[in-house]
Amino acid sequence: MSVIIQEHMSIQKKLEILSDAAKYDVACTSSGVDRSGTPGGIGNSVACGICHTFSADGRCISLLKILMTNECIFDCKYCLNRAANDIVRASFTPEEICTLTMEFYRRNYIEGLFLSSGVLKSPNYTMELMCNALKMLREVYHFNGYIHCKAVPGADPSLIEMTGWYADRMSVNLELPTADGLRNLAPHKSRKNILRPMKQIQLGRNEALGLKSYGRLSDAAGRERLLLSEKESNKENLPVSVSPVLGLVKRPTGNRGFVPAGQSTQMIIGATPENDYQIITVAESLYQKFDLKRVFYSAYVQVNEDTSLPSLPGGPPLLREHRLYQADWLLRFYGFQASELLSETRPNFNILIDPKCNWALGHLEQFPVEVNKADYFTLLRIPGIGVKSAQRIVKARQAANLRFEDLKKIGVVLKRALYFITCSGKMMYPIKLEENYITNQLISVKEKLPFGMEGGNLYTQLSLFDDVNFNSFNQSGVRSMYL
Ligand code: SF4
Repeated sequence: MSVIIQEHMSIQKKLEILSDAAKYDVACTSSGVDRSGTPGGIGNSVACGICHTFSADGRCISLLKILMTNECIFDCKYCLNRAANDIVRASFTPEEICTLTMEFYRRNYIEGLFLSSGVLKSPNYTMELMCNALKMLREVYHFNGYIHCKAVPGADPSLIEMTGWYADRMSVNLELPTADGLRNLAPHKSRKNILRPMKQIQLGRNEALGLKSYGRLSDAAGRERLLLSEKESNKENLPVSVSPVLGLVKRPTGNRGFVPAGQSTQMIIGATPENDYQIITVAESLYQKFDLKRVFYSAYVQVNEDTSLPSLPGGPPLLREHRLYQADWLLRFYGFQASELLSETRPNFNILIDPKCNWALGHLEQFPVEVNKADYFTLLRIPGIGVKSAQRIVKARQAANLRFEDLKKIGVVLKRALYFITCSGKMMYPIKLEENYITNQLISVKEKLPFGMEGGNLYTQLSLFDDVNFNSFNQSGVRSMYL
């Protein structure tokens, strides 16, 4: 292991290194919590290293986004901080984390903290440092702002539990969509060590919310229940030690609750050969089994040379990442299932059109839909009709039959919807319901894409007559992850 440690580094220099090192972690947006300030406390939940997230009421809030350390005993092949890399290493102390957070907060630069880390010495040692930083922030500095903290896979449940009482949100990164991918690129990590803290956080939240009691997860009986609830668990992987510093966890006093803003995770896209169908199936299962608030997708960015990593002739697969976020939205808010969006025979999205259009083109037998009669859930499945416009259609048609002009005023994107709907039995134009024809028309409509994905030579518009192998898009892609 090559580690260059600088003994007398200023806190400013550490901030430069550890905020830059945190930039690859995207799992930091929040669905937020709604907590007001407390008497004698500072901050509430309502420059460099600052990222933005969204509160429960949709406000954009700023977070100081840093790593506790970029030292790491692990050697994940995709990660800049892997043990094998010769890079400048730095670590914050818990006191330094508190100083930075409070100074930035007082200057009004931030409203919260996002704390991740490499693995220093051991998962327990690292988690304890992070937990101590949060404890100090809450109990010594009375910081009441938003805190998102990573859980270190492999850390003792007592440490995860204690951290959960101080954090608003926690996340455990899945890293790679399948156990095979993890074995190839992150051999020091195991699926079990990642899923266990996820399950613990879910059960702890349920208990704190009064949904179901599992007992104290740090106690032997609580652990037993936790482990019994994990089908994948086996005895060899039982955590054996209670934190030597914390001892048995004492629940802190206060009004925060246990991980009140829920948990999230992140997957790297394009470092391993999984197709879109596998990825959204994993995401769907995580939402269902672990009650996650968000799954984040991070296009693989090449920072290391390694024969087991794919080459990146076209740069990170940002457009694919975008399509997965759109599909994720369909799973969470539009009632789609992964098995409806894709299948083993149609395993990847057509990257040139959005996933809802992609689904509709594969199910043309269900179209056109009469907007004056279809129920709300059928309306939601029509390309160009979102949640708000579907709600408005259902309300507005109680007064009179809707026309295409009315739909436009309501907010329906007609340039996409017109192929899939009728108003009072008529289509907007005579259109042939034929997959290739409509695909071609949809591709020719200029789509508003997030900044950085338009133009360039990453994704060229293809003719329908090109022999498109969408699997080829799987292999491009670097973004690394921290815990
Ligand atoms: S991904 Fe995390 S655990 Fe793996 S090498 Fe990087 S910092 Fe260490």
